[in-house]
Amino acid sequence: MAEKIIIVPDRRTAAPAIPTPLELATGRVTDQLARPLHDLRISITDRCNFRCVYCMPKEVFDKDYNYLPHSSLLTFEEITRIARLFIAHGVEKIRLTGGEPLLRKNIEKLIGMLSALKTNSGKPLDLTLTTNAALLARKAQSLRDAGLQRVTVSLDALDDAIFKQMNDVDFAVDDVLKGIDIAHQVGLGPIKINMVVKGGMNDQQILPMARHFKNTPYILRFIEYMDVGASNGWNLDEVIPSSEVVRRIAAELPLEAVAANYTGETATRYRYVDGSGEIGLISSVSHAFCGDCTRARLSTEGKLYTCLFAHSGHDLRALLRKGHSDAELSTFVAHLWRARGDRYSELRTINTSGIDKDRKKVEMSYIGG
Ligand code: SAM
Ligand code: SF4
Ligand code: SF4
Repeated sequence: MAEKIIIVPDRRTAAPAIPTPLELATGRVTDQLARPLHDLRISITDRCNFRCVYCMPKEVFDKDYNYLPHSSLLTFEEITRIARLFIAHGVEKIRLTGGEPLLRKNIEKLIGMLSALKTNSGKPLDLTLTTNAALLARKAQSLRDAGLQRVTVSLDALDDAIFKQMNDVDFAVDDVLKGIDIAHQVGLGPIKINMVVKGGMNDQQILPMARHFKNTPYILRFIEYMDVGASNGWNLDEVIPSSEVVRRIAAELPLEAVAANYTGETATRYRYVDGSGEIGLISSVSHAFCGDCTRARLSTEGKLYTCLFAHSGHDLRALLRKGHSDAELSTFVAHLWRARGDRYSELRTINTSGIDKDRKKVEMSYIGG
């Protein structure tokens, strides 16, 4: 019988020390590699209604899995307070994720609170959300009404049998497509569609997906299967490099490269030569983009991670619940970001056999994608 791994999130609540002297946020803070703090991804639940084999495999995330109790989750007020502090340091973009963010009760209320925040230059925050779309058809209008600007939808195959094999809960492709169309109709666009490509599992779906989303308002992005977390049994042989994805598509549908929209854009862009749209490639394994990584991540229980592959986070919730002031929290965040030197994917690329294989990493469903 295969050995069962039970992953128990770290629930310590000892508050980290606040550095002194206290300082005011200046609107810009840079790390050891001169990368500014620009984006914040917030995981609002560690639960999900899918069991994607590369993210929350059933053998690990079963009925005995120890999910966080409600009292451990950051409240909407706590999330909004943290968001405001990060904005003062220069964050302009916030993405809600999970787990499946649409499972968080009253998410519309949180969106309403976040969408009322303004960036330092007085512009509305770029507020978006990544979802598996299972609840999107039902919720799109209320999310839009609450102030959400855009959604990114994950869809790994067009073939129902392959998609069901990947989500492992028998969820049908048509229901995702319906959710995407309704989200588009209510104005949650431009919508990006993320497809994680796992070799031998759904790579035969690269072309059908490309054909389907060509000539639509949606931008399909192919994501290299990553070695996040500790439960998906990642293997480099199952990664299809983006160059191969482009080669396969271009053999039937000619493509040309497009310049990045902005520095730090995670996806490399290509457009169809016949003018019928574009695709994106997220090459975190074959072509690491740490040099431009301006993202911080906040886990469901309020731990701050400066890298997707970090093995430990910094307990902002403990600081909040201990009653620290905004100035103290802001100083803590500034010091943390200034000390940041993470570049896990670049180091992995240097040694593609996978660095430090035994190192404990956090799960994607806990920290968000
Ligand atoms: N449940 C939502 C969803 O699936 O869109 C949001 C959370 S999910 C963790 C965010 C993104 O991470 C999804 O697009 C998912 O496909 C991607 N993801 C999860 N595990 C991954 C892995 N091992 N490699 C690459 N992408 C992964
Ligand atoms: Fe759930 Fe998203 Fe992970 Fe799939 S990728 S199991 S939908 S959190
Ligand atoms: Fe950013 Fe870490 Fe990913 Fe590099 S490995 S791009 S530093 S999250």
